[in-house]
Amino acid sequence: MRLRHKPWAKEKLMEYPQFVVQTPEKYKGKWGELFNNDHPIHIEVGTGKGQFIVGMAKANPEINYIGIEMQDSVIVSALDKLIDEELTNIKLLNIDGSNLSDLFAKGDIERVYLNFSDPWPKKKHAKRRLTYKSFLKLYEGLLIDGGEIHFKTDNQGLFEYSLQSFSEYGLLLKYISLDLHNSEFEDNIMTEYEEKFSAKGQRIYRCEVKYQN
Ligand code: SAM
Repeated sequence: MRLRHKPWAKEKLMEYPQFVVQTPEKYKGKWGELFNNDHPIHIEVGTGKGQFIVGMAKANPEINYIGIEMQDSVIVSALDKLIDEELTNIKLLNIDGSNLSDLFAKGDIERVYLNFSDPWPKKKHAKRRLTYKSFLKLYEGLLIDGGEIHFKTDNQGLFEYSLQSFSEYGLLLKYISLDLHNSEFEDNIMTEYEEKFSAKGQRIYRCEVKYQN
């Protein structure tokens, strides 16, 4: 996500520890303590400005959500949305998703959302794609048995690559749409990128895959 650098963002993120978890390592294996309940936890890696994860938290109060975004100048817009709402079932993490295993133990998470992940189209950058096999292994290490990944993108190349990566990893395909906005799928909550690309007439691809352990 290209955005104006906001030198004040880091400081603002630290001013709201009730929304932006400052020491997430201490909740490894016991995230329920942070949310004060034992509801399932769903995370979004690359949450951007937070429209999707905040919309999901509003729609599903019985689920806890964690939005993960590495760019402080971007996640600060998600923080603004939380400041405006009174939601107790959502937190933000300003970290690189590659480090998730430091923060979550096996079984901490029920579902991973990946929305409009950076496509990294060059083959030499394939390892950076959030659906590359090393990331699938990383997610497996924090998900419950039978945990799921829900993935949306406008990028056909990334979608096809990801389906292949999921399949080679042994994930079970539960749902697929090659044109989400003209499908039967209900309750779709749009991300910022989804709104932008679909307004330009681009098709949105979506799938749900499940670990078979
Ligand atoms: N999901 C949002 C949407 O659909 O509007 C944002 C999409 S944007 C193209 C991808 C976002 O993922 C960027 O904000 C980027 O900083 C973030 N991102 C990419 N790799 C990441 C990683 N390893 N950890 C955390 N965030 C990441």
